[in-house]
Amino acid sequence: MITAKGQCVQKGIAIGKILIYRKPKPRILSEKITDTEEQLRAYRDAKEEAIRELSYMSEMTEDKISKEQAMIFSAHMMLLQEPDFDHAVTEEIVQRHHNASYAVYRAGEDLASFFATVKDNPYINERAADFRDVTDRVIRKIQHIDDEIRLPSDPVILLSDDFSAQEVAGLNPSQVLALVSAKGSVNSHASILARSLGITALVDTGIAVSEKYNDRTGVADAIDGRFLIDPEEELLQEMYEKQKTFLDSRKELEQLIGTKTETKSGKRVSLFANISSVLEAKMAQRSDAEGIGLFRSEYLFLNRQNDPSEEEQFRIYKAVVETMNPKPVVIRTLDLGADKQDQSRTGKEENPALGVRGIRLSLDHPGMFHTQLRAIFRASAFGNVGIMFPMIVSKEEVEKIRTMIDDVKEELVKEQIPFTDPKIGVMIETPAAALISDELAGLVDFFSIGTNDLTQYTLAMDRQNAALPVRQNVHHEAILKLIELTVQNAHKNKIPVAICGELAADSALTSYFLKIGVDELSVPVSAILSLRKWIRSQD
Ligand code: PEP
Ligand code: MG
Repeated sequence: MITAKGQCVQKGIAIGKILIYRKPKPRILSEKITDTEEQLRAYRDAKEEAIRELSYMSEMTEDKISKEQAMIFSAHMMLLQEPDFDHAVTEEIVQRHHNASYAVYRAGEDLASFFATVKDNPYINERAADFRDVTDRVIRKIQHIDDEIRLPSDPVILLSDDFSAQEVAGLNPSQVLALVSAKGSVNSHASILARSLGITALVDTGIAVSEKYNDRTGVADAIDGRFLIDPEEELLQEMYEKQKTFLDSRKELEQLIGTKTETKSGKRVSLFANISSVLEAKMAQRSDAEGIGLFRSEYLFLNRQNDPSEEEQFRIYKAVVETMNPKPVVIRTLDLGADKQDQSRTGKEENPALGVRGIRLSLDHPGMFHTQLRAIFRASAFGNVGIMFPMIVSKEEVEKIRTMIDDVKEELVKEQIPFTDPKIGVMIETPAAALISDELAGLVDFFSIGTNDLTQYTLAMDRQNAALPVRQNVHHEAILKLIELTVQNAHKNKIPVAICGELAADSALTSYFLKIGVDELSVPVSAILSLRKWIRSQD
């Protein structure tokens, strides 16, 4: 028996025959050529074919998964259409008389190494891998190498060194029991797609992929992060049991779809979801979330060179709002900074968690903030929208926000663009906000307590620092006191209060939250049904 440890990408247990997948590798030899025209034609035909294929992948992914995931392929298409790239390949062929495959390889490598060595810009560095992916695709086309994964009709566990996003997107999930790779990371595009398709997956198993494993029995245990080959009979039976327990508990939780979130004595609380993409909104809807309590909009701004335009933001907010309609969707404005670093705007800060983050950054960049407010207001015409603001510490900030909102509304009226009047809320995630919650409550329509930051700022313990025992202190009396004070002040001023930090899903505190009168708990999508189950079991 072989055992390898890996990281879980998508929870599940898969048991079945292993199929090894090896990427067909093109041969890249440098040859001096005389017929430059022929090589140029081979390169251009291959590039066109690669673009057509990427465009098809993009459409298919949009249909099967989501617009955002499809953007991986449109981004690859754009890289291939880069004039610099075309220029470099043409020069390799015409000036240096290199064959087409080698010319593409050289041009791709030069650009990729340039991207890889740009300092302090992980986004650009990651584009190096994208460049290698797309040039590989063109070279395979030049050499007429077929790179589709062919699967047998009986589903298999697919084992490979690594999977690319293209390979995962092309899979039919009903033919794959699990994806297991030797390398890879949990947050790669390939992993994101595997999750979106609901395929059980493990990465980073370090296994030496060999054809000798073909047809042998594999177990991908993506609950405890293990991959087993030829497990002994006793262990195999144990795995079948574990798989059954996993599937039964998932089915049992699904029975709760459509039921109320209330205790046995009829005490109710709204159970909302925290999301950061349209895809997650769809998952939240499927998991029967009663609304979206926190849409972390900053994820639309991360990992890209330019900010999303008003139109792009509007389309994404609208898609989320329409997915949930008529249920409420609370969109939180940009919370960049701290662990969601944005050095292009803040510069290098000594203490980013105490620096220009959240609302401070938005108020410092009124153009960007204005664009985001316009996009959210426009989306409000398509459903039930609320807006909330992160990292508030003062009444003055709320007053400035109110003025900007009035300007946006006035503009939209003038331009005859429809909108409804979204409810305006603030996050209570600094001790300052909790302590002045009585005053803040008079200025807004709702509160949402962000316990992740409230904890780090109250205890003066960096939430990013694994050496600090933040986790053991989450029930610290000081935090509970601040939560209680916030709830009292909200209710005194007749506004509702939600909790949207991780603590909202902590079942050890659920009864306490219900007792002090929290109106809404907003939790990760995966926690919705299990928390409902817990609440329904309480007196
Ligand atoms: C929080 O701080 O609790 C919160 C919900 O916001 P984030 O985790 O995005 O900082
Ligand atoms: Mg926060």
